[in-house]
Amino acid sequence: MKNYLTKKVWLLYALMLILPTCGGSSKKAAGEESAADSAATRIPGIETMLLNNVKVTWIQDNAEERLMPRTLFADAPDSIIDRLNLQDGIPSSVSTFLVETEGIRILFDTGLGAPDSRLTESLKSLGIAPADIKYLYLTHFHGDHIGGMMKGDSIVFPNAEVYASKTEYEAWMKMPEKQRAQVVKTMESYRKQLHLFEFGDTLPGRITALGAVGHTPGHTVFQTEKLLVIGDLMHGAALQAAYPEFSAAYDHDKEKAAETRKRFLKYAKDNGLTLAGMHLPAPAFMAAGQY
Ligand SMILES: [Zn+2]
Repeated sequence: MKNYLTKKVWLLYALMLILPTCGGSSKKAAGEESAADSAATRIPGIETMLLNNVKVTWIQDNAEERLMPRTLFADAPDSIIDRLNLQDGIPSSVSTFLVETEGIRILFDTGLGAPDSRLTESLKSLGIAPADIKYLYLTHFHGDHIGGMMKGDSIVFPNAEVYASKTEYEAWMKMPEKQRAQVVKTMESYRKQLHLFEFGDTLPGRITALGAVGHTPGHTVFQTEKLLVIGDLMHGAALQAAYPEFSAAYDHDKEKAAETRKRFLKYAKDNGLTLAGMHLPAPAFMAAGQY
């Protein structure tokens, strides 16, 4: 028994001598890889893809796994839900995207700004501080999209030119006090750097803002080349890509949201666009052919 233990100790000691060499060599190999290779593809919740001249990075904001409850889609019959095996909920996320094009970097939406939100940390892991964000484009004003703009009473992106839909802005300003409180506080805090666009406008970076109303009065999707940032066009893609007629309870105007969803899915399909969606399941891209 004693002999056996001694042998085991020696074996462990021998292994310890060998292991640092292995670790050292693999570290060296990692160091030799390109920067683009290392940062974006390795960190969980971050994935970069290149679409011609447009580099787009998905940044997941939610720390915990997200399932949209089946009850959110009350209009969808059990027969369809069962067939798609979605009884326990529909895979989802809270996501943001960083687009690099035309020499500028644009952040699309900011997630929830919850205590466990990952946006700021993930940006840091890409070597980007909040102050480095020069452009911030908003799809709409719900809390899971503008929440990350504020930390308490302070703005998180001091140098960002913020672009939002004029229609969205005006509609929220007319909403009841309680409902609009977060929007008013956030937009007021960013007033010196806030730009309101009309649908159809081309924004810096040659990004076109397209009206996709229904989810909210001024809900916007953004297109550049073969990329379409779809905001909340779909909350449960596993259901809605195949059955766009079913709106989520979150949609302000369910009928209009369904019509908009059908129109943009067709438009994207016809043009071979890649979708980047704030509630698509991780990684929150859908390439042409996947929807
Ligand atoms: Zn949302």
